[in-house]
Amino acid sequence: MIYADYNATCPSKTSHLSDVMQILRGAEGNPSSIHQFGRRSKAILEESRQNIAQILGASSDQIIFTSGATEANNMMIASILGDNEPQHIVLTKTEHPSVINPITVRQKKNLCRASFISVDKDAIINQKDLFDTIDENTKCICLIHVNNEVGAINPVEDISKKIKNKYPNIHIHVDAVQALGKIYLTWLGKSQIDSASFSAHKIGGLKGCGCLYLKSPQKHHMSFMLGGGQEEGKRAGTENLAGIISFGIIAKDIFRDPQWMNPAKVLRSYLINQIQSLDHVHIHGDPDKIIYNTINLHVDKVDLQTLLLKFEHQGIAISSKSACSSGISQASYVLQAMGYSEEIAKNSVRISLGYNNTKKDMERIVKLLASLRSKK
Ligand code: PMP
Repeated sequence: MIYADYNATCPSKTSHLSDVMQILRGAEGNPSSIHQFGRRSKAILEESRQNIAQILGASSDQIIFTSGATEANNMMIASILGDNEPQHIVLTKTEHPSVINPITVRQKKNLCRASFISVDKDAIINQKDLFDTIDENTKCICLIHVNNEVGAINPVEDISKKIKNKYPNIHIHVDAVQALGKIYLTWLGKSQIDSASFSAHKIGGLKGCGCLYLKSPQKHHMSFMLGGGQEEGKRAGTENLAGIISFGIIAKDIFRDPQWMNPAKVLRSYLINQIQSLDHVHIHGDPDKIIYNTINLHVDKVDLQTLLLKFEHQGIAISSKSACSSGISQASYVLQAMGYSEEIAKNSVRISLGYNNTKKDMERIVKLLASLRSKK
């Protein structure tokens, strides 16, 4: 089997699972308990928080653990929009469903006013559209750093600076899930970004764990998950210690080794070069503006069902759209926002590479794509 669906999830290495188990054995207590067992778990929890803060150029008190990025996005949006006056919120058309859905549900109930910002043919945010849309009454802007379907990289640090120069009170929230581990983010703590969401399983950690970075934690009241006083009262519930330990270990690895995910870069370059000689295969977006492990493409006269079946038969795991929407035969809203027809947006797939891939895998993918040329 070839696994080429790293944007859906990055499988944990066996050595990582052993490392997690080893630490977890020493973390039997509830981190909120005051006895020795609890204190030991708390210390382990805080060490992970410190490791994660370090890769974001942040401090520990700015990191709130969650069940993943879906929760982090939902809780930030709920906190910013509140329950009182309907607020104006702005988001790119290519956000992940965990940003779009909480906003559109609120909009349907007249609890907010949402403006969607267009993107260009490479899925990069249209800054003119953004600045024409916002004003001093805008409460929040959601920007996706790296898109999960096509891999487009938005210059969120630069955009945030420009926004804050004009509108210092607008809250800027960034979904940075697909950037972590591929792009260095140690600038985040010094940036103008107010909050950002992350997920452990996209970088080889356990599933069901993530975090929310908050620039000014004291400014935000969170009531998305009410209960005990965990996470400084911002996210109640006993912490997912196994997930947090895993997240912390990977964060440390990433900080230590900048080449962590780089093998994917070389392999993707090779794959793109090969695909470019196949005139029936079309890559979406300019590879220079796309994160280095991702290729989104369609094949002339081959529908999605056939494409997925052919890959499946060859034992190559890829996806159509994002894992959160695969299985749905709807056209990709991301590709449509880039200007592709509904037909293409329905029949495209994503290949996303990671640390276990080899040149042989790429050769098999190319061979399969080459065999899909229609016979006239
Ligand atoms: N945002 C983006 C860009 C993602 O790719 C994902 C995962 N598909 C999420 C948010 C949600 O993350 P999680 O799986 O941790 O809920």
